[in-house]
Amino acid sequence: MPQPRIVIVGGGFGGLAAARALRNAPAEVIVIDRTNHHLFQPLLYQVATSVLTPGQIASPIRGILGKQRNTTVILGEVTGVDKDQKYVIVRDADREGVRLPYDYLILATGVTHSYFGHNEFEQFAPGLKSLADAVAIRNKILQAFEQAEAEEDPSRHRELLTFVLVGAGPTGVEMAGAIAIMVRSTLKKEFRRIDPAAARIVLVDMAPRVLPPFSEELSRAAKQRLESLGVEIRLGHSVDQIDADGVVVAAERIASKTVIWTAGVSPSPAGKWLGVQTDRAGRVRVEKDLTIPGHPEIFVVGDTASLDQNGKPLPGVAQVAMQQGRYAGKLIQGRLRGRPDQQPFSYFDKGSMAVVGKGFAVLQAGKIQLSGFPAWLAWAAVHLEFLAQSSLRVSVFVQWVWTYVTGQRGSRLIVNHHGSQEQKPTGKTDLAVVSSK
Ligand SMILES: Cc1cc2nc3c(=O)[nH]c(=O)nc-3n(C[C@H](O)[C@H](O)[C@H](O)COP(=O)(O)OP(=O)(O)OC[C@H]3O[C@@H](n4cnc5c(N)ncnc54)[C@H](O)[C@@H]3O)c2cc1C
Repeated sequence: MPQPRIVIVGGGFGGLAAARALRNAPAEVIVIDRTNHHLFQPLLYQVATSVLTPGQIASPIRGILGKQRNTTVILGEVTGVDKDQKYVIVRDADREGVRLPYDYLILATGVTHSYFGHNEFEQFAPGLKSLADAVAIRNKILQAFEQAEAEEDPSRHRELLTFVLVGAGPTGVEMAGAIAIMVRSTLKKEFRRIDPAAARIVLVDMAPRVLPPFSEELSRAAKQRLESLGVEIRLGHSVDQIDADGVVVAAERIASKTVIWTAGVSPSPAGKWLGVQTDRAGRVRVEKDLTIPGHPEIFVVGDTASLDQNGKPLPGVAQVAMQQGRYAGKLIQGRLRGRPDQQPFSYFDKGSMAVVGKGFAVLQAGKIQLSGFPAWLAWAAVHLEFLAQSSLRVSVFVQWVWTYVTGQRGSRLIVNHHGSQEQKPTGKTDLAVVSSK
C-alpha cells in the first residue's frame, strides 16, 4: 500500500513546524520551498545593519530535516493548486507546470512586501523580507558612507548620510536603532572626510506612535530611547512621495539616497490558488482547525492564514505560524492513525519584544511590561532559543558578545553580484578629477 502523501508548501516558521510535527507520521512528507533555506526573519535587520552574516540567520531546509526519514525536500515554486484533483503545480529550475499530487496539503507561504498601492516606491525604497533584501540594504547603507567619503562637495554629504525608514513597527524601530548604534560606534573612527555620527536617521509612520502593537507606555519608552540615540521621529503622516531624491512627508521633502520600506506586507497568493474567501488583506479565512471550508485535507497556516481569536485577528508573527504548523501536523498525524480530531486551534500568546539599539528592548507578555536591559536579555535568550540549529545559536551568541564588547560587526562587506557595474557614478565629477585637484 503506498503511504499517504502530505505536501507542505513553505519551509518558513509554519511549514517547518508542521514538517517536524510529522516526523513520525506514517506518510510521505514533501516540503517545497522556492528558496533552499529556512530564514529567521526576526534577525534580518541585523544582517541589513552588518551585525550578523546571512549564514548566521538561515540554514538549508534539507539540512534541518535531513534526519527525518519520511521527509523529502524539493526546491521549487508553487504556482497554483487544483483542490478538486488534489495536486499542486510546481515550477522548478528547468520545468514549468509540474503536477505534484497530495492527500493532505499544508500551505505556509507567508507574505511579501506591500506598498499600499504605490508599487512605484519599490525601486527607491527596498523592503526587508528575504536574505537577498537584507544584503541589498546592507550594500545600500554601507555604499552611502563610501560615496560620502569619496565626495568632496559637502553639500552632497547631507543627502548621502540621511537614512529614512518608512514604518515604525518593530522592524523600522529595530533598524533605526541599529543604524544609530552603527554610526556612533563601529563607523565613528574610520572615516576622514565625513563624520558618520552626523548621519541623520528619520523614522516615519502615519500611526500616532511607534510600535503600535505594544502598550502606550512601552511605545513611549521606545520613542524616548530612539530619540536619545539621535533618531528623528515623524509620526501621524504618511509618505506622500518616494523617488530617487528622497521622500516627501507632510509636504516637506527629506533629501535622502537611502530609503528603506518597513511598513506593510501582503499575503502570498494562496487565497487565489484556492479560490476561497479571504480577509481584507487577502489572507485565507480558515476554519478553527485551520482547514478551508469543504476541504478537510487542505490546511493554511501562518502569515498567509486569517483566523480570529477572542474577536481579534491573530497577528502575523512567528509564534502564531509555529503553533499553527505544529497543530496542523499533529492533526493530520492523528487522522492517519485513526484518532479523533483534537480541539480547535487556540493560540497561546507568549508575548512580544522589540530591540531599540544596544542593550535595550521592550517586552510585553500578558500583564508583564519591561523595558531596558532586562528586556534585552530576555529578547536575546528567546531569539537564540528559536534559531533553527544549535550551530547558529553558538555562532550568533559569540557574535553578539563580540559586537557588544568591541562594537565590531560580523560583516560590513559590500557584495554586488555584478561587481562594479552596479556602482554607476551619480555625480557630475568623477573621483579621478576630484583627487587631482
Ligand atoms: C523583517 C521581519 C522581522 C520580523 N520580526 C519578527 C519578530 O521579531 N517576532 C515575530 O514573532 N515575528 C517577526 N516577523 C514575522 C515572522 O517572521 C512571520 O510571522 C513568520 O515568518 C511567518 O511564518 P510563515 O511560515 O507564515 O511564513 P515565512 O516564515 O515567511 O515562510 C514562508 C516560506 O514560504 C516560501 N514560499 C513562499 N511562497 C512560495 C511559493 N509560491 N512556492 C514555494 N515556496 C514559497 C518562502 O520562501 C518561505 O520560506 C518578522 C518578519 C520580518 C519580515
